Amino acid sequence: MGNLEKLTYSSYICELIDICLEEGEKNEQLYKDFITCLYLLNTDALDYEILIRSFELRVMKATGYGLNFDNCVMCKQKISTSNYMNLTYYGGVCDKCEKVHGINISRAAYSALKFLNHTSMDKVYRLTLTKEIKKEVEKINTMIISSNYSKKPKSLEMLKYIKE
Ligand SMILES: [Zn+2]
Repeated sequence: MGNLEKLTYSSYICELIDICLEEGEKNEQLYKDFITCLYLLNTDALDYEILIRSFELRVMKATGYGLNFDNCVMCKQKISTSNYMNLTYYGGVCDKCEKVHGINISRAAYSALKFLNHTSMDKVYRLTLTKEIKKEVEKINTMIISSNYSKKPKSLEMLKYIKE
């Protein structure tokens, strides 16, 4: 990864921390995750997009928007997979429940999100994802981040220009 990309991702995770925490609020675990993420961004040993998604999930979890992958958010029944993500209750929906207030998601993207949600950042290198799945995962995270925090992160928009 080029230096400019690294710099952009680093500023993005700084921005995310700034956006999700209230002024003066302390969160030790999130701070540790932040340092780990910065460190891993510099190692070149893993897919940085996947790393960033993993960090986003951690931020969401730490601020009350953690996703539930193990139970249907409507009927609480245990689920191992889903093709729908409810964005009001932040989680998967079983095959029997109504699919409202959320978006359709492939089962592969659901599994990827679930894996990232349960795995520490230094182990996310075990996951390889296709471009399409990465896009889906990014879409879900972005939707939750931009609709729940008062400000929208902007750093990643810059990355689109760099990549084009
Ligand atoms: Zn259900």
